Amino acid sequence: MEFNHNHPLKNLNTFGIYANAENFANFNSIEELKRLLENAKQPLMILGGGSNILLTQNIKGSILKNEIFGIDIIEEDNKSVAVKVGGGVVWHDFVSWSIERNLGGLENLSLIPGSVGAAPMQNIGAYGSEIKSVFKQLEAVNIESKELKIFENKDCQFGYRTSIFKTQLKNKYVICSVTFRLNKYPEFNTSYGAIEDELRDMGEITSLKSISQAVINIRSRKLPDPNIIGNSGSFFKNPTISNIEFQSLKKDFPLIVGYPNGDNETKVAAGWLIEQAGWKGFRDGDAGVHKNQALVLVNYGNAKGKDILNLSKKIQDSVEQKFGIQLIPEVNIL
Ligand SMILES: Cc1cc2nc3c(=O)[nH]c(=O)nc-3n(C[C@H](O)[C@H](O)[C@H](O)COP(=O)(O)OP(=O)(O)OC[C@H]3O[C@@H](n4cnc5c(N)ncnc54)[C@H](O)[C@@H]3O)c2cc1C
Repeated sequence: MEFNHNHPLKNLNTFGIYANAENFANFNSIEELKRLLENAKQPLMILGGGSNILLTQNIKGSILKNEIFGIDIIEEDNKSVAVKVGGGVVWHDFVSWSIERNLGGLENLSLIPGSVGAAPMQNIGAYGSEIKSVFKQLEAVNIESKELKIFENKDCQFGYRTSIFKTQLKNKYVICSVTFRLNKYPEFNTSYGAIEDELRDMGEITSLKSISQAVINIRSRKLPDPNIIGNSGSFFKNPTISNIEFQSLKKDFPLIVGYPNGDNETKVAAGWLIEQAGWKGFRDGDAGVHKNQALVLVNYGNAKGKDILNLSKKIQDSVEQKFGIQLIPEVNIL
């Protein structure tokens, strides 16, 4: 397997940013990955669907794109099945596969862009669900030693939009496959966001299929389609502050939006903070803040990664000045 040189990345990142990779190759098996690792020029980056990255420069070294496919049931009992999924499988294709077989656990995570291999990176989540609750284990290759290692759920240190692969083991492992445990007798979770209202409007009874469709409908209305306007979904994480800080902010900003996060902390809606700081719908050249969803930064066409990054820094500064809260990017900045 050969490396391509100066490989264009514009169609491989959902922000639609122009940049090149010095060296680029796909792999569709663990053996092929190990061979590539022998020859790859460092530093190394693994690419999935490119839906959670911001390219601010040409990428030096090598990019390896995960194209390991396959969805296989590897264990089954009365209540559940364990399904092993190749890291290159498109996340929503796997969700659709599970819905067709009436296997529960992924329905609230419908239509999240990207690959299965990247899903554990930030413990993807939406509508009150996160993959950590259906995650069984993953197989990953150590970039240096090239050894294959199994990570069980507890090894991954999953948290809100984070895992060990985004912290201690950043850039150390290539996730090749992920095994999920899905339920034959699913428990529905429709309490979050507008799912119940949507089901009512759809006139459908609650089922895995209708919940998935409700989530698809809501997401399609709320979030810009990267095929039309470049973006990487939520640019920042929702910040967590102490309940005391939240109550004190509430005195000055009675409408501030927050949700309890454990007993002592509140998770504040970053989109609300950004909107209140006056950024919603802002545009400078081709870099902007989406007109309906202030948490999403957008590329209207020819923005450079640095334009988006500069805009994100201005937003961070103004939110910090107004509310004393530091916004942390959710997107991986490269
Ligand atoms: C419109 C839109 C909506 C979104 N909504 C949500 C949402 O609701 N919830 C949510 O959690 N996220 C959301 N996201 C973010 C994104 O979809 C997820 O983070 C997704 O898991 C990224 O997958 P990817 O394959 O595109 O990763 P990439 O962007 O290709 O990579 C992301 C990071 O993971 C690393 N990586 C990728 N694959 C591997 C691998 N196999 N092994 C090791 N490292 C790897 C990369 O090096 C990079 O650092 C949204 C994005 C968009 C564009």
